[in-house]
Amino acid sequence: MTDTSLEIALTKVAKSRLQDTNLENIPFGRVFTDHMLEADYENGEWKNVSIKPYQSISLDPSLAALHYGQAIFEGIKAYKDDDGNAYIFRPADNFKRFNNSAVRMNMPEVPEEIFMEGMRQLISLDKDWIPSQAEHSLYIRPFMFATDQFLGVRPSATYKFLIILSPTGPYFVNPMRIAVEEKYTRAAPGGVGFAKNAGNYGGSMYAVSRVQKDGFDQVLWTDAFEHKWLQEVGMMNVFFVIDGKAVTPSLEEGTILEGVTRASVISVLQEQGITVDERRISIDEVVEAYKAGKVSEVFGTGTAAVIAPIKELNYKGFAMTFDTNNYPVSTGVKKQLSDIREGRAADNNGWMWKV
Ligand code: PMP
Repeated sequence: MTDTSLEIALTKVAKSRLQDTNLENIPFGRVFTDHMLEADYENGEWKNVSIKPYQSISLDPSLAALHYGQAIFEGIKAYKDDDGNAYIFRPADNFKRFNNSAVRMNMPEVPEEIFMEGMRQLISLDKDWIPSQAEHSLYIRPFMFATDQFLGVRPSATYKFLIILSPTGPYFVNPMRIAVEEKYTRAAPGGVGFAKNAGNYGGSMYAVSRVQKDGFDQVLWTDAFEHKWLQEVGMMNVFFVIDGKAVTPSLEEGTILEGVTRASVISVLQEQGITVDERRISIDEVVEAYKAGKVSEVFGTGTAAVIAPIKELNYKGFAMTFDTNNYPVSTGVKKQLSDIREGRAADNNGWMWKV
């Protein structure tokens, strides 16, 4: 992590909107703080790094990102402790993932001073927007898109990078009903599944809407060829507790987003003495283990909900149901993660990055 102080042009708002905003139980992603960070990539370098009042940006209709989809993003959370200090949860991991996405989408990498130091300066400026109630946080959305005004299909030569901030209340997830997806696919080996590019989300919506008509909340994505190897649950990584061991799909094939929560859950489980297997896992194995009474928990992990319990997995009309009131493994992990984030447990892994 660099401590160099980057020159960022700063224009502050004349009057903050904060006093007109109620941060309690604020819904996700609808309210934005006073300021945003913006930078431009031109002639092979990043320039015009500025923090300015949150505002609209004007886009030419021929803007490359709107046509060919060079657009990536990240999702990170910041918290405030009882003394009013702001902390960001594992931002260096998101920074690394952002640049992995950039490389795969043939976009320029964003330098650490702009991403990390820019984020630090932006958050310290808008620190009062971090809600202090339990389970509340400030959601941080860094993103980059292609800005060439040109309809030719080729990597854009110019890009815009921004960071916007959105205070958010608790994200309650009711235990989810999940349909195992057998027709559509999210990611194939050699594709862009490991990247956080906008198109992955656009491409998944149809399959999800289709199962929502039948009362499911999300799909469990399977591999593109046999539709049996499990990948992710909606926009979360997936974990199973089978025979007392935690199992989560491995990352090697590049079809799964490397979740920061996934990595944190693996560490916490291991610290709690629970074996974690990262490996290929098929729906057939889950069905077989379920029938033998060996599957005790199924849950998703991600920045938004942290842990989302799954109460039903439906495969070809066979409903596997789980008693989410008796989920000791995931409940224990969730508690430990929120204790670390809210300062009740020691941050032994250095996950909380002080702003
Ligand atoms: N998979 C997908 C497709 C996602 O969009 C996300 C959310 N970023 C995750 C998994 C979980 O990742 P993280 O724990 O880093 O939020």
